[in-house]
Amino acid sequence: MRTKIVAGNWKMNNNKKESKQLIKDLKKSIKKEKLENTRVIVAPTFVNLSSSLKAAKYSKIEVVAQNMHQAKNGAYTGEISADMLKAIGIKTVILGHSERRTYFNETDESLAKKVDAIIENELETIFCFGELLEDRKSENHFAVVESQLKNALFHLEAGAWKSIILAYEPVWAIGTGETASAEQAQEMHAFIRSIIEKKYNKEVADEVSILYGGSVKPANAEEIFSKPDVDGGLIGGAALNVDDFTGIIKAI
Ligand code: PEP
Repeated sequence: MRTKIVAGNWKMNNNKKESKQLIKDLKKSIKKEKLENTRVIVAPTFVNLSSSLKAAKYSKIEVVAQNMHQAKNGAYTGEISADMLKAIGIKTVILGHSERRTYFNETDESLAKKVDAIIENELETIFCFGELLEDRKSENHFAVVESQLKNALFHLEAGAWKSIILAYEPVWAIGTGETASAEQAQEMHAFIRSIIEKKYNKEVADEVSILYGGSVKPANAEEIFSKPDVDGGLIGGAALNVDDFTGIIKAI
């Protein structure tokens, strides 16, 4: 059975004290939730990972990183390696978020190297991708998503896919308040699973968790999560508020 996941990407928000407080509040608010076969994840910024891991200890909350450099080590000022993350207890890293692609020039080709570093280091990634508004308007969205997956992930062997969580995030829906309809999300998730099955096999396609991201709120989460190929969400804005994030977790 595929794992359900609700992951909150905090981006460049929350200082150390605020991160610890949000985790403390979240711990309390989800304490009574059964969360069978469901993972709850938060992604604080690098400097707050250690303190957040400590705050989340003995709870259902997993703490993950928002990015990682592909090199083992070296002259890459301001960057963080897989080994550095592993050494403090991080097991999962978000890669390829549209903000990284837009503001920091990440491409499918550079992301393929980061994904390789994830596999080499026995980490796991939440890999983000999705089309721009003009791609959807020109009905190119399926081709764009297919090429993003092919270029960044399809060089992997089937066995490596146990370390991959996909997050389909149409860029036009991120932080805009405009969400894809549940039908649009399902249509794309089913397409993604079909191309994975074609490239690998049914088992890989059936096992990979595919999250939807883009203006998910407590009010629309249940409908989106009810779709058969949607295994949860990657949440931005609503993950910064404990009541909203809890509402989304309850929806799953
Ligand atoms: C995101 O940044 O990944 C995201 C989905 O943001 P939001 O939920 O705010 O649209």
